[in-house]
Amino acid sequence: MTDVVVIGGGQAGLAAGYYLRRHKLDFVILDAHAAPGGAWQHAWPSLRLFSPAQYSSLPGRMMPAPAEGGYPSAADTVAYLTDYERRYDLPVVRPVRVDAVRRDGDHLRVESAGGTWRARTVISATGTWSHPYVPYYPGMRDFAGRQLHTVDYRGPEPFAGKRVVVVGGANSGAQVLAEVSTFADATWVTLRPPRLLPDELDGRALFGLATSRLRGGAVADLGDIVAVPSVREARERGALKAEPMFARLTETGVTWADGSALDCDAIIWCCTGFRPALGHLTPLKLRATNGLIPVDGTQARGEPRLHLLGYGDWTGPASATLIGASRTARDMVARIVTETSD
Ligand code: FAD
Repeated sequence: MTDVVVIGGGQAGLAAGYYLRRHKLDFVILDAHAAPGGAWQHAWPSLRLFSPAQYSSLPGRMMPAPAEGGYPSAADTVAYLTDYERRYDLPVVRPVRVDAVRRDGDHLRVESAGGTWRARTVISATGTWSHPYVPYYPGMRDFAGRQLHTVDYRGPEPFAGKRVVVVGGANSGAQVLAEVSTFADATWVTLRPPRLLPDELDGRALFGLATSRLRGGAVADLGDIVAVPSVREARERGALKAEPMFARLTETGVTWADGSALDCDAIIWCCTGFRPALGHLTPLKLRATNGLIPVDGTQARGEPRLHLLGYGDWTGPASATLIGASRTARDMVARIVTETSD
């Protein structure tokens, strides 16, 4: 029997591992990927973090600033996470995809095709990247062009010379629009008017906001856009002009409620949402009607031996960010230690 099984070896799972090791617990991290780095391995190459390296770090070891300056890329983040798990000698077993977690007497049983583990406590840190969400709009099936979510976006080159609609008013939408508009005739469509942070503010303001839960403040809102260099350049070109959200798709493009229409070859849904990857927890029957598992902090209300880490604010303030996952992991492991040593 293991003290703790962590499911997922992305940043959240590693942050948990750091504190589990510090508290000298016996644990293993099971990760479905063949290589370290979690979801960052799938991000498009030009993606930039919206905070400097030192504000995008896990506990113990600072992410090195990129040699070329600026904010870290997805590849920088993968390199950092790869180094992190080696440096702290975290016991990550991969590739192991957990299929099910079940109650089994005084422990939880973690099942995969590669083996079964018994644990006093299970931490689920499987992220959201594998469950992209695209909102429904009438006519989606009629559209003859290409539709893709950002999880399938690899860069602007395939859109050269095409007419592209980029949907999404937060950081990913702005970054994708910035680069696609240099290759294509791009139209930016957002649910609400996008808000660009002043140049001197970056993701630190958003983290502070998420952590303190002072939402909707005058300084920054969580959906606000950090003016990374590509976004600034697009702003200088006048490319950051957004149209309101369209009402429906047609065979050839999109139409707005006022009847105006735009033909396009592709629609890129930019981080229009993700759902937590919780399928392996189905046997525990913990999900509420909204699809989430009710938690008290990170602890599942219906199963105190289960903790959920990194899925979003519902599992800890800013816990789906590098810095926020660390803080939440620290508190979560302290709680596990207290409760299991009673
Ligand atoms: P993941 O990185 O998704 O890791 C989960 C791991 O669990 C994966 O390795 C996966 O293989 C594994 N797994 C899944 N299911 C199973 C299973 N059943 N069994 C075993 N293993 C499993 N955050 C910031 O701090 N700064 C930013 O600038 C920033 N920019 C972002 C930009 C975009 C476009 C997106 C989408 C997110 C961004 N984030 C940013 C948010 C966040 O940091 C990432 O989404 C991060 O990848 C979440 O880490 P995680 O460990 O929770 O999940």
